Order: sequence, then C-alpha cells, then structure tokens
Amino acid sequence: MSHGNPIEITDLRKDYGSFTAVDDLSLSVEKNSFTGLLGPNGAGKSTTLKIMCNLMRATSGSVRLNGIDVADDPKGALQDVGTVVETPEFYLYLTPRETFRYVGELIGMRREAISSQTDEILEKVKMKEWEDRKLGTFSKGMRQRVALGQALMDDPKIIILDEPTSGLDPRGMAEVREILKNLRSYSDDLTVLMSSHILHEVGDLCDRVAIMDHGRLLVHDDIGIVNAPDGVRNITLTTLEPLSQEELDMISGLPDVVSAKNNGNETAVCLRGGPPEQNRFFEQVVGLDIGAYSLADDAGDALESTYLRLVKESR
Ligand code: ADP
Ligand code: MG
Repeated sequence: MSHGNPIEITDLRKDYGSFTAVDDLSLSVEKNSFTGLLGPNGAGKSTTLKIMCNLMRATSGSVRLNGIDVADDPKGALQDVGTVVETPEFYLYLTPRETFRYVGELIGMRREAISSQTDEILEKVKMKEWEDRKLGTFSKGMRQRVALGQALMDDPKIIILDEPTSGLDPRGMAEVREILKNLRSYSDDLTVLMSSHILHEVGDLCDRVAIMDHGRLLVHDDIGIVNAPDGVRNITLTTLEPLSQEELDMISGLPDVVSAKNNGNETAVCLRGGPPEQNRFFEQVVGLDIGAYSLADDAGDALESTYLRLVKESR
C-alpha cells in the first residue's frame, strides 16, 4: 500500500555533530492527501523538509519523490514539486508577474506556458491587483503569497511547505490559509505536505496528520482518527435553557451516545463513531424539541489533547 506513494521517507536520519535532529523517520504520504506535519519547535520538521527539497543532505536514509530518490537525482525528484521551505529570497525590484516569469524560465518552462500560467496564478494567490508593483513595497504576507505562487508554477504534483503562515499577522495568516484551502480544487492530482505548529490550522486544512518530536514520528493517520483515537468524540450541545434530568436522559439514550453531562446550558456529549453516527445524532437532537441552538464538534480541542499527550509522552 505504502509503496508508490508520491512521498516516501525511509529511515531518514540527520545528525548535527553528536545531536540527532531526525531519528530514523519513515513517513509515506498518500497521493492526493493534504498532510499536516505537526511538532513543537526543534522537533525536526524543517530539517526533514530541507532534506526533501535537497537543501541539505541526510546522514542516512532516503527520500523518494514521485518514485525518484532526491539524493541520487535531485533534479528529477523535484521536477514536479513546488516548495516554500526556507524564507524565500526574491529580487525586491521585480514585480510578482516578473518573479513568476523568472521562476518559470529557471525551471525550464516554455514561454507560452509561463505567460498563461502567470495570469492564473496571480488570481490564485490574490496578487492580480499588485501584479506590477515591486516586491520591495510588499508586506510579509504579500511576499508569502508570491512565494506560494512561484511554488505553483508548472502545475506541481507535490507541494511542500514549511510553516507557511509563520510570522504573519492575523490577516496575512487568514489570506494564506484561504489560498491553501483552495489548492485542491485546482487539481485532482496534488499531494501537499505542510509543517505547522498551529493545531487549528492543521485541523482546518489537512485530512491527514503526522506528529513528530525529537526527530521521531509519533503518529500518522487520518485527522478524524487522531482527533478521536478511541473512536469517541466530544460534542458541545448548547440549549436555550439548561436541560432537565429527563431531557439529559433522552440524550444519553440516543444511539452511540457514551455519556452526556450538562453545565448550565452547555451539555458535553461523548459520541462513539465517525461522521455518519455524528450526522444521525445531530438529526435526532434537532427533532427532540429541547431548545437546541448549537452543536459543535470539538475537533480542534481533540487534536490539541492528542498532540499534548503524545508530545508529553515523548519528552
Ligand atoms: P523544527 O523545524 O521542528 O522546529 P528543526 O528541524 O529546525 O526543527 O530543528 C531540529 C533540531 O535540530 C533543533 O534542536 C535545532 O536546534 C537543531 N538544528 C537545526 N539546524 C541545525 C544546525 N544547522 N546545526 C545544529 N543544530 C541544528
Ligand atoms: Mg522549523
């Protein structure tokens, strides 16, 4: 199953002197997934991504991108790969349009492809308005959008991003996230691997999550499973008035409900199962006439509790 995935990291190790930053890491990233690589500062995320992009050599182990070993044939391996890994250094006297043309020429694109793609990408990264302004006048968030744009040149099949919203203000972050959210609607053959230490960002964008610490992989799974490792998810039901004992018993008696406890007009419900069970629960609650006005899946909180547990265990 794992063989032939677009990203195959096998027994990867990176030592800085006697310090091991990446410790026999193996990770196979499924085609068409959007995978979040989470981990605290110093976990080894950037080191891993730099080795993947041939910006650094591994001590041992290998990375294959689209089946090609990065160390053996970096040009071939990175052919269909767009990256934003180290803070990109662009020529500040160039405009976004000129930057994309320059990058297109560097990677050997044909002139017609460069000009047709440049227009599309300016739209995708919301840079149309500033296409002829010099990068030197741009905010950090705008420069990051240009960086994303250059990564999209020549229609890559793999995109690798190292903390794409790091250091941006809230508006810059939201704009970059929106661009990332749209990525998958442009192509049905795109695999994204993105590091982050922002849990809700990963919860928002990714369908798979890998958590690493001390250079080791702690978990790699569907985000729904990482959120609810024992198959139980927490849902907050908010009602106009606090629920009576009788109403609480009705909730507890619904299929797949493990427990229901209330605190004022918020009721914490533990529900076993995935989206289909959750859907059935939602529909039944709406039919109960208990003044329900909000049902929230605490997915972000669940990811946080799994993350904190795993990272603590690995310390
Ligand atoms: P992350 O991106 O997850 O924060 P990094 O890959 O940047 O982690 O770093 C992993 C570990 O390797 C950290 O402890 C860091 O201090 C160390 N490290 C990174 N680069 C170097 C280097 N050039 N020389 C020595 N140690 C380094
Ligand atoms: Mg880093």
